[in-house]
Amino acid sequence: MTQRTVIENAAIATVDAHDTEHASGHVVLADDRIESIGPGRAPEGLENVVRCVDATGHLVTPGLVNTHHHFYQWITRGLATDHNLFDWLVALYPTWARIDEPMVRAAAQGSLAMMARGGVTTAMDHHYVFPRGCGDLAGTIIGVARDMGVRFTLARGSMDRGEKDGGLPPDFAVESLEDALAATEKTVRRHHDSSFGAMTQVAVAPCSPFSVSTELMRQGAELARRLGVRLHTHGSETVEEEKFCHELFGMGPTDYFESTGWLGEDVWMAHCVHMNDSDIEAFARTRTGVAHCPSSNARLAAGIARVPDLLAAGVPVGLGVDGTASNESGELHTELRNALLVNRLGPHREAALNARQALRLGTYGGARVLGREREIGSLEPGKLADLVLWRMDTLAHASIADPVTALVFGAAAPVTASFVNGRQIVENGRLLTADEDAIARSTREEARRLARIAAGS
Ligand SMILES: [Zn+2]
Repeated sequence: MTQRTVIENAAIATVDAHDTEHASGHVVLADDRIESIGPGRAPEGLENVVRCVDATGHLVTPGLVNTHHHFYQWITRGLATDHNLFDWLVALYPTWARIDEPMVRAAAQGSLAMMARGGVTTAMDHHYVFPRGCGDLAGTIIGVARDMGVRFTLARGSMDRGEKDGGLPPDFAVESLEDALAATEKTVRRHHDSSFGAMTQVAVAPCSPFSVSTELMRQGAELARRLGVRLHTHGSETVEEEKFCHELFGMGPTDYFESTGWLGEDVWMAHCVHMNDSDIEAFARTRTGVAHCPSSNARLAAGIARVPDLLAAGVPVGLGVDGTASNESGELHTELRNALLVNRLGPHREAALNARQALRLGTYGGARVLGREREIGSLEPGKLADLVLWRMDTLAHASIADPVTALVFGAAAPVTASFVNGRQIVENGRLLTADEDAIARSTREEARRLARIAAGS
């Protein structure tokens, strides 16, 4: 029997195609779907209503969609804090190469818990470190997301260009081309669900041009298209990467991606900071998506991505936390604000982004980048019931009249409730699906254990 949840008296930002908003409206959830949404009270005579929520003082938005992350980095936060990307990677690779299954489980719990209680309903993890004999890391991460009730994409990463082949990672931290492809295919076949409303999807995701062979890029793209899944990698993050590509491949990153089959509407790429006009035109022409990670880009002094130009060209853009070794906060709702502020430091100044564009990046934009805009990313009848109730009547926000402005420009807003597939996973800022205090303890223990092992190696 259908079970309904009725939410009333809320300000609502639907983030639909017309940016429809209601100063005081209702949302009706029926099982895992949004049944109706609109101004005023919910329709009379609804049957099987199991819950009524008086959301006075709240803003309801679509759940946030994170499009780039590395969960395992939760246990290596706060290290190499004054480095650029390449120096930071070289400093951390030897530690990362020592991760094992209990460490990855704890780190995935920490990363996911932090995002979920801040309004993320769809998460992703780009995991690319698979030390020999480390167990089933992909299955472990997917299990954590399932237990927490968060919609999830695992981007099964890989690295096969170690130092001896001119790459950045140490040789002992990389897989062979054959092993990487075989393990990726196995993960897709075992875990990817292509159906409407899927809770778990898998993408093919070699790490970056400076840690992956050209052959793995090429064959990875072929594998993804053969299996019908999406492709993800890092691109055009720093000036050093651009230099690396010119020296090794005789071309810039975007041309290199195009030459290896890595531009297309089934591809999304993290960062895309150093893009010239023809790079942006190539992304727009091929509808390649971008995961914009403003805090990480600032932390590693990478630069400012040209988000206003990407949007003007029609490129799909979502937001990403990035790994928490380069964005220690691990939150996505604060990236709405950071995306807006960072882009206003660029050439477009105050016209770069507004509050509603920032909210769209973190919701519908992310859904588009993950290829799931028909299911999630906006509040519309028939879409999945992934939504957040942000509390706007406390000290932090109550004096700001416009709730979307309050959400984006103001302090990180408290989450009163968060729903995924109609199931409530957060209540009054606390996770209902996991024990945050137990996760805090286990992540601290695993971070210490990793530091000890890395120091002894
Ligand atoms: Zn990253």
